[in-house]
Amino acid sequence: MKKTLLLLSLVALPALAGEGKWTPQQVLELDPAALRAQGLKLPPQRLWDPKRGTGLLAGTVNVGGCSGAFISSTGLVITNHHCAFSIIQEHSSPQRDLITQGFLATHREAELPGKGSRVQVPRSFTDVTKDMLAAVPAGADDLTRAKAIERRQKELVAECEKRPATRCQVATFDGGVQYMLVDAVELKDVRLVYAPPRGVGEFGGDVDNWTWPRHTGDFAIVRAYTAPDGSSAPYSEQNVPYKAEFFFPLSPQGVKPGDFVMVLGYPGVTFRAMLADEMAERQSRHYPRIIDFYGESIRILEQEGEKDPAGKIAVASTLKSLRNVYKNAGGQLEGLKRGRIIEKHREAEESVVRWAEKKPQHAEALRARSELLSRQKEMGKTWEREFLLNNLKATARGIAMSVTVSRLSRERARPDLEREPAFMEREHPRIKDQLEREQKNLFLPAEKRLFQAFVRRALAFGPEERIAAVDKHFGAKATEKDVAAKIDAMYAGTKLLSLTDRLAMFGETEAQLQARKDPLLAFGLDLATEVAALDEVKDSRDGASQRLRPEWRRAVMAHAGKPVAPDANGTLRVSFAKVQGYSPRDGVLYTPQTTLSGLLAKHTDAEPFDAPDKLLATAQARRLGAWVDPGLKDVPVAFLSDADTTGGNSGSPTVNGKGELVGVNFDRVWENVANDFGYNPDIARNVNVDVRYVLWMLDQVENADALLRELGVRKGPPVAQEKR
Ligand code: ASP
Repeated sequence: MKKTLLLLSLVALPALAGEGKWTPQQVLELDPAALRAQGLKLPPQRLWDPKRGTGLLAGTVNVGGCSGAFISSTGLVITNHHCAFSIIQEHSSPQRDLITQGFLATHREAELPGKGSRVQVPRSFTDVTKDMLAAVPAGADDLTRAKAIERRQKELVAECEKRPATRCQVATFDGGVQYMLVDAVELKDVRLVYAPPRGVGEFGGDVDNWTWPRHTGDFAIVRAYTAPDGSSAPYSEQNVPYKAEFFFPLSPQGVKPGDFVMVLGYPGVTFRAMLADEMAERQSRHYPRIIDFYGESIRILEQEGEKDPAGKIAVASTLKSLRNVYKNAGGQLEGLKRGRIIEKHREAEESVVRWAEKKPQHAEALRARSELLSRQKEMGKTWEREFLLNNLKATARGIAMSVTVSRLSRERARPDLEREPAFMEREHPRIKDQLEREQKNLFLPAEKRLFQAFVRRALAFGPEERIAAVDKHFGAKATEKDVAAKIDAMYAGTKLLSLTDRLAMFGETEAQLQARKDPLLAFGLDLATEVAALDEVKDSRDGASQRLRPEWRRAVMAHAGKPVAPDANGTLRVSFAKVQGYSPRDGVLYTPQTTLSGLLAKHTDAEPFDAPDKLLATAQARRLGAWVDPGLKDVPVAFLSDADTTGGNSGSPTVNGKGELVGVNFDRVWENVANDFGYNPDIARNVNVDVRYVLWMLDQVENADALLRELGVRKGPPVAQEKR
């Protein structure tokens, strides 16, 4: 009897829990009763009203590839410390080391502008699938198809961006089953308001990254500004705080185990729609090579950074992002193996095949799958070369920057709509900001060693994978000594590392660049030719995928017979979840919350477990303010939920059923890194900073009185009468 009851109650559970990064449109199509049963207290339309482009999702913003949320009507945005890191680094020097000390703007004028930082506020999503597909000429080959699709994308984006301060994108879902025009307002004046010291924002550092239990206060607060008339404008002293119509009030009550939460944000990429063989390639080649290549770059940056305090600051940001990718790769490998994800995926794929074999209407899907599989095999031949050229960001900045400047000069000579998307006019301000920002990342001794490592790899390639630019500039038979000498000469003779010269190069034609006879640039111009040729190959591959993958995906979805959330693609999504712990392995149970006492116990006084003195003093004196969790009898620091998240969800608001902010998502647990390939409810856990830790820091540790009043958490005179 008992058994039957248990079974029944399981079946009756809403089918939506956990899995699925739902698009705003899908949220409105999901069963509202199931959402209510799960804990959503608002009508789904309060999340998103497509007609008006309003709702809580309009308060969920894209912060340069991360997510964030408005938390006041005065443009305050909460995101992760690691997402605001480049602004923090930009304003840091050995004399005023904001990375280590943290930063609090005591009044508005003190807030620190972030070069090139932007916040995008969503405005509308329009299905443009028919329009996109109609653009493909009948009988088009793959390259023509890809170019036609790209062209139509560009036209739609150009049309959409005629409206001032607008950033648009045509996003592809399920490999081309659907195309969506996403329209957002772009705010260009973003300033740092608060960043905790590194010992909070990065407590546990790389050791704790991608793990649980966690005690990291990975949050920061920035503010978006507009021109006095409310329009988006670049930084100016005259600018005023953005008036956010939708924002998330902070919930001082926070969460407890079992509570319903939603994670809203901009997940970047996932691979669940891949074929099992494609997944296997990532397991056997991609992640191992990431570990090898990024690992080498990390070692170089660490060793060189250790030798010089200014060098250490210069390499900090690059090192942080490389380490994140590196450790992630290890987690993917472990997770794929442990969860038998590829095997399970293969079984599921085969059952779709068996099902489709009996359905003549899906014959095309089967054919598409076979062609995708044979194309996958073909790609293998030049895989290593492609990997290296695709990962220039993990090598010397000089290589990446010289290629960017070179490509820009060539692409600029073509009409805007014919350029590679990354070099169109609309991207120029971003490219320029990036080239400028790089100045902070440059550290010559590390540069040279990274360059050398790149050349060494290229020289080791077999005949089919030669990189001609490397052979030409270094000699196919160059010894280590030759290479080192050549690189010394390149860096001695280049102007690319000077900001003024680099910005001048940004506007030059190819002939002008050539005329400079700059040795690093000369290498970049040659390498850029190869990178551009590779882009063409990729375009043609994309065309094949656009032709084949939708066929296969339609069969998979028909077979599922229920709503299937598409893979992440950088667009706004919602995940419905529950606060809960998990069992990472046999005999071990993790509880879903951590506390200040746990943080103190982890503190060692040495990096990365080196909490700042002011935090320690406050915590040891038990000055806990109003932020104690009644169950834990302590200030909660982080919590777990079973939301379906990935990279890009960093900084996502985690909100309760009423739409109040209870946390900020910043990571996943080790066992769940490979959820990019498949969701497993037993271990799918994302890690959030608890809003009460944020409030405790601001209140008890930082005495950020004005900020707390602005957030409506502390009583006091209205914000407008204050300086803040
Ligand atoms: N920590 C992650 C990031 O860096 C978030 C995640 O992947 O879950 O984006």
